Amino acid sequence: MNQAFCPCCNSTKTEEFFKVSNAPVQSIVTIKSHEEAISIPRMDITLTFCNSCGFIYNSSFDISIDYYTKGYEDQQGFSPVFTKWINDITNKFINKYDVRNKDVVEIGCGKGDFLNLVCELGNNRGIGIDPAYVNGRSESNPNVSFIKEFYSDKHGSLPNDVILCRHTLEHIHDTKTFIQTIRKSILKKNDVILLIEVPSIVRILKVHAFWDIFNEHCSYFSPGSLGRFFRMCGFELLDVYLEYDNQYLFLEAKPTKNNSLKVHPIEESIQQLRAYVNKFVSGINRQLSNYRKLLLKLKNENKKVVLWGGGSKSVGFLTHFDELKVIKHVVDINPHIQGNYIPGIGIQYVHPTFLKSFKPDTIIIMNEVYKNEIKKMLVEMDLDPKLICL
Ligand SMILES: [Zn+2]
Repeated sequence: MNQAFCPCCNSTKTEEFFKVSNAPVQSIVTIKSHEEAISIPRMDITLTFCNSCGFIYNSSFDISIDYYTKGYEDQQGFSPVFTKWINDITNKFINKYDVRNKDVVEIGCGKGDFLNLVCELGNNRGIGIDPAYVNGRSESNPNVSFIKEFYSDKHGSLPNDVILCRHTLEHIHDTKTFIQTIRKSILKKNDVILLIEVPSIVRILKVHAFWDIFNEHCSYFSPGSLGRFFRMCGFELLDVYLEYDNQYLFLEAKPTKNNSLKVHPIEESIQQLRAYVNKFVSGINRQLSNYRKLLLKLKNENKKVVLWGGGSKSVGFLTHFDELKVIKHVVDINPHIQGNYIPGIGIQYVHPTFLKSFKPDTIIIMNEVYKNEIKKMLVEMDLDPKLICL
């Protein structure tokens, strides 16, 4: 039974607009064999639009599945492009709010990379909370500690001048309870800074990025729907902006006791978002069929094709074309996923140096942001395949 009411505003004026059939329920869990990988359960994804607040959610999301406690691999810090970018935005954030010598809590801290960076660059004290935390993965800092648990009310008493929550809210089904739990932890304070980062649904809708839709992401925000939601939950917006080629949406806020009406200029209206949804619906089948034609052409020409970029995007992409068996390998530079098998798809991840002997004819790059970095690695291996960026 799909959830008919909006998890953000409880409205029942919701409307299903896109379905992905039989998507693997997990996409970045580590799996050691082909058999285990293809036996991962599959479920439909039903993107649903709330006409009252603009929130988009997967109304067929299954909350009973354990997504995060069994080898969830989400580290991004292996790419020089990413590392430079994350250093830049962290320094900007520290300078903007003078985040120095503060108590910082990160909800959904992953392996702790970002929290360590914020604490190192601003001389802060940090506590990270995440069921997928792995001890010893990041550099140890005596001022930073980790709690391997799901965030809940009981963490409300942790000292918090700053609360960080990056790439976590899109995994939360009960968005309202989650943000209310954060709000309760700062009930008596007005000067706490909250930083939220999620993928932007606007870009997904505009470029028909079906590869960014997968089971672990049940909640999809735009600048407008995120802004409206945080105002509704008792926050005043300090800033809202897009980063990383408009893929990532940031919101900075602080608690307020008054009903804040401060709308940020980049927030789109519900009507505008509705128009993006309509455009997505009218163009998505053409987009899917163009990629299918391309893959079939490569297959007919006996081309050796690989994807570059593992993780959720590759599962989101291959879910639609898996049965064509065109993609032979998926390359990723994250050493913690190499050798593992892709959930639901069953292809093994390989290290970039594998391409030296494989000599691919075509590489499909999952994220254009990394194109130059990948090109450089290919030149160093004396390879010159055709590059296609999603
Ligand atoms: Zn709503």
